Amino acid sequence: MVNENLGDMAGHFFVKATFPGHSQDQVNDMIKSIRWSFEKNFWQYDWLDQRTRQEALQKLKAITQKVGYSTSSPDVMSSASVEEFYRTLDIRKGDHFGNQVRSSAWKMENMLRSVSQPENRIKLESIPQTVNAFYNPTKNSIEMPAGMLQPPFYHIENPEYLNFAGIGAVAAHELGHAFDNRGRSYDETGALRDWWTESSAAAFEEKSKCFIDQYSEYTVKGPDGTDHFVNGWGTLGENIADNGGLKLAYESWRQRYRSDLAGRKYNNGHLPGLESRTAEQLFFIQFARSFCGNTAPDEEVRRLKDDSHSPRKYRINGVVQNSAYFAQAFQCKLGTPMNPAKKCILW
Ligand SMILES: [Zn+2]
Repeated sequence: MVNENLGDMAGHFFVKATFPGHSQDQVNDMIKSIRWSFEKNFWQYDWLDQRTRQEALQKLKAITQKVGYSTSSPDVMSSASVEEFYRTLDIRKGDHFGNQVRSSAWKMENMLRSVSQPENRIKLESIPQTVNAFYNPTKNSIEMPAGMLQPPFYHIENPEYLNFAGIGAVAAHELGHAFDNRGRSYDETGALRDWWTESSAAAFEEKSKCFIDQYSEYTVKGPDGTDHFVNGWGTLGENIADNGGLKLAYESWRQRYRSDLAGRKYNNGHLPGLESRTAEQLFFIQFARSFCGNTAPDEEVRRLKDDSHSPRKYRINGVVQNSAYFAQAFQCKLGTPMNPAKKCILW
């Protein structure tokens, strides 16, 4: 109830305790590097013709990134700003029902007032303690609240190979949604507009088909031991975002890492006990680690029907099978299961 009615007030205490120092700046800087890798790749893809490329670059540039918490209406870090924001909401001790009614009225008033005002492009749509990240196609924005910017995804003192493989891959995934099979029908302002030339759209479709075929072959075991197939079409958007996400996070991390092998600017130091692993290998181990989890077989089968994401196992293995960087880091021979000759690549 506190989250629902006083979300940014609870969020104030949450970010003060869990999102310290320059975390917001650091994550924003990581996303800047990832956007730069995206841009660089747009220039390199010969299947994007000049007109579509210009549109894509324009859309990429226009994406707003909202990281951690709102800094206006209210500025969540400032207790004075939070207090002012909730000033007109009357919360009384011992009056739960009244508090709920007044909260609903207050929220409705705020919403109606916002209709006649210009959109606040800085304010996050979710409260800071939300453990989620998303791309909003009609606003052309990505949002990563502080609740997501926590271990195992992110920590301000982590080496960069951990942060990029964790939250970096998430940020790149969300950016990727701007250019997946659904996101690509919206333009830089969030309007539904077809900005693709026929030939670039056809190339996109062909590359998408590779992912549909790849994921349609994956199965999960049901409670009775029978195989159930992943819906390659239904999970396409998420798979495009997952694959581009890992590739772009890796490329932007490696660019920084290689430009600073002495570690003066970026922290890529060894972790105690894991000295035998290269930074490249630890990147992929961390990527897998941030996705791993346990799901009961009946739930796994149920999710095949209504989750737009692939099962966790394939959100990891399906993606690294497409990654030449992964094969290189672990020296997988071409033609082995984790380094198949046929790889699906879009972004
Ligand atoms: Zn997604």
